[in-house]
Amino acid sequence: MHHATSAQNGTLSIEGVTLETIATQFGTPCYVYSKAAISANFLAYQAALAKKNHLICYAVKANSNLAVLQTLAQLGAGFDIVSVGELERVLRAGGDPAKVVFSGVAKTASDITRALELGIHCFNVESQAELVLLNSVAQACGKTAPVSLRVNPDVDAQTHPYISTGLKENKFGIDINLASTVYQQAAGMSHIEVVGVDCHIGSQLVTIEPFVAALERLLILVDQLADMGITLKHIDIGGGLGVRYDSEQPPTAEQYMSAILPLLANRSETLLLEPGRSIVANAGVLLTQVQFTKSNGDKHFAIVDAAMNDMIRPALYQAWMDIQPVQPSHAETLTYDVVGPVCETGDFLAKDRALAISAGDYLCLFSAGAYGFVMSSNYNSRTRAPEIMVDGEKLHLIRQRETFDDLVRGEHLLPAVSSC
Ligand SMILES: *Cc1c(COP(=O)(O)O)cnc(C)c1O
Repeated sequence: MHHATSAQNGTLSIEGVTLETIATQFGTPCYVYSKAAISANFLAYQAALAKKNHLICYAVKANSNLAVLQTLAQLGAGFDIVSVGELERVLRAGGDPAKVVFSGVAKTASDITRALELGIHCFNVESQAELVLLNSVAQACGKTAPVSLRVNPDVDAQTHPYISTGLKENKFGIDINLASTVYQQAAGMSHIEVVGVDCHIGSQLVTIEPFVAALERLLILVDQLADMGITLKHIDIGGGLGVRYDSEQPPTAEQYMSAILPLLANRSETLLLEPGRSIVANAGVLLTQVQFTKSNGDKHFAIVDAAMNDMIRPALYQAWMDIQPVQPSHAETLTYDVVGPVCETGDFLAKDRALAISAGDYLCLFSAGAYGFVMSSNYNSRTRAPEIMVDGEKLHLIRQRETFDDLVRGEHLLPAVSSC
């Protein structure tokens, strides 16, 4: 489900509130999310899986605001985490640790201890060395760690190289050809319980074929393991379903699941999913205001108050994101680069866009609900933007704009030099 909709007169709204109202009330830049859109996106997965034992573990890193996690926890979501900070967020938001899977290539002994203490669903183990550490930490805590091995199925997700994770050349997971050996090792460890297998081949996948190819490879492994006496309770196929930013036509959750479920017919393993982007990306926008326009010959710039520190996707991944004025305007339509105030040439939100805008206008950057605020920083000593959740006609400030005091919290001047 998509967030911002356009009325006939060209005014953009989220649920029952115009974006102009939100920008005026909270200032810009600001992130705005639709509770209805987040819920609908989650419920679409749930509906598609109604006939299969499953657990949908929302990937917290896509958008980790407490109110977003709370919304999903209340719908029964589990969570995929990649750090102990994300685990604490899930707890704070009312999520159930027993529905948490812990991914990530560099878990530390203290991360593992905390997760064992809370009794998470599963550790997605990414290397042999991690397995050894996990076993010894579990032993020290007097616990047994539930484990899934993240295997690397060597499938090309055909997405941007920075968000492609399922090829041999990527740092993630255990080579699928070595996996059965590592499973045997795991099965022999005193404080490990082997419960599943997982993979995550990349992000923003817009075709189903790589998901199917990866699952087929996992199933061959699962059957090999069964022959060796290692039976798994779950199969986790990760996240990665893409969304529409421009003209992509990604499969819906329903289409995706109808390609996956036949492969699992007559199998008893629980299906786990770790969707992030497909739950939140199109449930959020970033609002910004045009500060100035300027022209260098026939090159036109719209200088806005949001920058790469607020939204880094265009600079980092050459991501194309739609941007439109929140209200129609009578200004002349020109081809603009929409750029921010940060002192980097890479600081742009959009390039070569035909826009009818002038200084003071508010713009809406679409599909900003995933990998937006969570990747923001304080570069150039810019305070981070607030986040607002729209619920029907109601507006909730779910993260306040940072202040200068927030910026320097924890910093210390050197002691005064004593003159003697
Ligand atoms: C990032 C990530 C996800 C979520 O990916 P999306 O593309 O946002 O759906 C799921 N699982 C793991 C292990 C990840 O690293």
